[in-house]
Amino acid sequence: MVGAVAVSNGLGFALGVAAPQGRGEGLASHSASQLVSVRRKESGKLAVVSSGRRGVVRADALPSSQEVAESVPGATAVTLEEVATDSAKPNSPSNGPIAPKKSRNGDIREEARRQCAGSEPTTFSAKYVPFAPGVETDEEYSLDEVIYRSKTGALLDVKHDMEALKKAGDGAYWRKLFDSRVGKTTWPYGSGVWSKKEWVLPEIDDDDIVSVFEGNSNLFWAERFGKEVMDMTDLWVKHCGISHTGSFKDLGMTVLVSQVNRLRRLGKPLLGVGCASTGDTSAALSAYCAAAGIPAIVFLPANKISIAQLVQPIANGALVLSMDTDFDGCMRLIREVTSELPIYLANSLNSLRLEGQKTAAIEILQQFDWEVPDWVIVPGGNLGNIYAFYKGFYMCKELGLVDRMPRLVCAQAANANPLYRAYKDGWDTFKPVKALPTFASAIQIGDPVSIDRAIYALTQCDGIVEEATEQEIMDICAQADKSGMFTCPHTGVAMVALQKLRERGVIGSNDRTVVVSTAHGLKFTQSKVEYHSSELPDITSKFANPPISVADDFGSIMEVLRQKLSLR
Ligand SMILES: *Cc1c(COP(=O)(O)O)cnc(C)c1O
Repeated sequence: MVGAVAVSNGLGFALGVAAPQGRGEGLASHSASQLVSVRRKESGKLAVVSSGRRGVVRADALPSSQEVAESVPGATAVTLEEVATDSAKPNSPSNGPIAPKKSRNGDIREEARRQCAGSEPTTFSAKYVPFAPGVETDEEYSLDEVIYRSKTGALLDVKHDMEALKKAGDGAYWRKLFDSRVGKTTWPYGSGVWSKKEWVLPEIDDDDIVSVFEGNSNLFWAERFGKEVMDMTDLWVKHCGISHTGSFKDLGMTVLVSQVNRLRRLGKPLLGVGCASTGDTSAALSAYCAAAGIPAIVFLPANKISIAQLVQPIANGALVLSMDTDFDGCMRLIREVTSELPIYLANSLNSLRLEGQKTAAIEILQQFDWEVPDWVIVPGGNLGNIYAFYKGFYMCKELGLVDRMPRLVCAQAANANPLYRAYKDGWDTFKPVKALPTFASAIQIGDPVSIDRAIYALTQCDGIVEEATEQEIMDICAQADKSGMFTCPHTGVAMVALQKLRERGVIGSNDRTVVVSTAHGLKFTQSKVEYHSSELPDITSKFANPPISVADDFGSIMEVLRQKLSLR
């Protein structure tokens, strides 16, 4: 047995000590088979923080890291990197008495295969049905069919055998099962999406799954932003964009690409997967296809997108076709091509993606220890995600994990607000609009594919729709960033919706509220740069914090510091 001690001299240098278990005293016996970090205090004392136990143990008068090494009989000095890799190895003896059950060669897929061998086939199942709540129909399709719409052209929905899921166990059973899978590397449950596999694609072989262990994203307590900007104590941001390719699209794409992987293995002649999005969808598609070695084909309008939007599919090796048209033109062309060639269409009407996206809702409940928040605010464009959140919450209620639904708010950019207009009209009429450019470019959609899904979701949970102007979006992003976040404009749209509902008193100051952040702010830096340089046309940069240019001499710098830090 080898214990590991990491010693920092307080200057950022570190060395590790490996001690044989049960030998030595003080530090060594304390640290055997645990990872312990020792930091030298200014007083010359060391605080020993054990990761395996609660609390802090002080080891007095251990003057230097070198002496720590010498004070442990039989110890040999190792670098911190070795400590890190050793403790990360599944079969490392430092894992202690908890028997490691991972395969020696680290192939977690192979390990999953062995664990599965001999187990009963699943009793859970799911199929495609037309999306028509309340309408009886016999029309249904296997998930192994390549089909995007019903006979009448309606959207499809993935329908689970809820009776089988209910029979497997009550709410406590599912809560316990899902909780047991968080934070592990077991294939495929290390993924936030696949840790809910029975509710996502129950019949897929673990072996066919294409995952980069997406999901399990941070639920961030927006303490300062909540108190100072929103006058709220219980405000949270679900950071779905702190993810593999920087947006929540990963959650859906792991499901779609896994199913395509399965279809190819079943012998369906699928050449690859195609899409006509410029932004987050093509990035996610390209990454998952690359992980599985499946060709990805991306249609982009020439000269209409930024380098940032272009670079992810290029880097991931997708076949990127650039053509002289706009997005709608690309969409029309890829539809024509996919009806001619066996290329699977990863567009936004695809209902498989929503099965992955809904796990973000389940995760929120799980992260609150299965307490239901009062409000969840989601920015919406094509409106699949708002329905996915509804479905995730609904399944948790239906299967007894929680006893109620949160109220959902869908937030739209005022420049692309067809859902907002329909809501204001009492849902009586829906009219597509011509979407104008918005900083929240992923939701610049005037004729959303999932409009029926969104209206259904919102009417079922007493939902609300709000809108945000470009000025409001940029200001709230700057305010959120000043409290330590780095928000994308879509997240800003949701925050503006919150602000308006707070001002109107609809959302109370103690209501537990979750804002869903859909992308990483680092994907959308251009508008931030221009905001802080006050260069955005028609936008007043109220919260700008531009860099101050200053001559490279001591006097000038001191002058600026005196002024800015109010020194005399
Ligand atoms: C796709 C996307 C959305 C919109 O989701 P819909 O399901 O189309 O409503 C919002 N924000 C970001 C960052 C996105 O990529």
